[in-house]
Amino acid sequence: MHKQKIHVNDVGVRDGFQIEKKLMPTETKILLIDALTATGLAKIEATSFVHPKFVPNMADAETVLRAITRREGVLITAITPNIKGMERAIAVHTAGGRIDEMNLFMSASETHNMANVKRSTSQSLADFAVMVPMAKAVGIKLNGCVSTSFGCPFEGSVPEYRAMMFAEKYLEIGFDGITFADTTGMANPVQVERMMTDAKRRFPGTEITLHFHNTRGMGLANVIAGIRAGITSYDSSIAGLGGCPFAPGATGNICTEDLVNMLDDMGFESGVDIDRLLAVAVKIPAIVGHEVPGQVMKAGKTMHLHPIPKKLYEA
Ligand code: ZN
Repeated sequence: MHKQKIHVNDVGVRDGFQIEKKLMPTETKILLIDALTATGLAKIEATSFVHPKFVPNMADAETVLRAITRREGVLITAITPNIKGMERAIAVHTAGGRIDEMNLFMSASETHNMANVKRSTSQSLADFAVMVPMAKAVGIKLNGCVSTSFGCPFEGSVPEYRAMMFAEKYLEIGFDGITFADTTGMANPVQVERMMTDAKRRFPGTEITLHFHNTRGMGLANVIAGIRAGITSYDSSIAGLGGCPFAPGATGNICTEDLVNMLDDMGFESGVDIDRLLAVAVKIPAIVGHEVPGQVMKAGKTMHLHPIPKKLYEA
């Protein structure tokens, strides 16, 4: 039987590490990205070109991109909020630190965009209109992320047309793919299926990715809702790294190995080697110095069977 392909992208080294207080050694990031690359993931978000003053853990973007091992079929991606970051990205891309895809982001919510990148949404779009041709000229693919597509921690519910409106503007500007992000874990499965059914109808042929956080325990349920609507690409983070800047202690992104284990059980083809992935995940608590939300790394994958207790025979 032909299995449906689901693409899994790991964003742990970026979305996860950016929120860690501890400064992660560059060498650790390189080893981690290389280990993830070998598991068969579709994309790995390796770093972010943001001002080191705001996110000290991403100050080594250039070094990381130059040092990591490349593997056929695994796209290395990076994000940036502004033109200055795009200039840095292009400089390293053309000097031996290839970036396959840049991910640009703004929020569906006006308030969140102002808080996050200190711009109005129209200013962000104007910047993207400059940045997209810059990146395309050097052969970098462009993905546009609409943050807070499913809800805003300041405004509450965000009118659903806004996510669609900005996605449409992205495609006009020349982006190749769209991500709808549930930045602070406010999406629910009914909403996801409804909005993504709409998105598939509006943007046929466009690669659509969903980015969920498990802040309120609905992360994997939201993935199923997305799959039901026909979305086949998902962001997740190794060991469930990450968090929510507005909810200290909250769970992070959906967990990569939990996602892959679920897809395996349900008969989807992710192309990811779950055993290799788990071998990476179990090292994460020591790297970050705290407990992580990943569940399969603690319980073992579903088909990890146990010997039948002796007592059963003795009774
Ligand atoms: Zn995120």
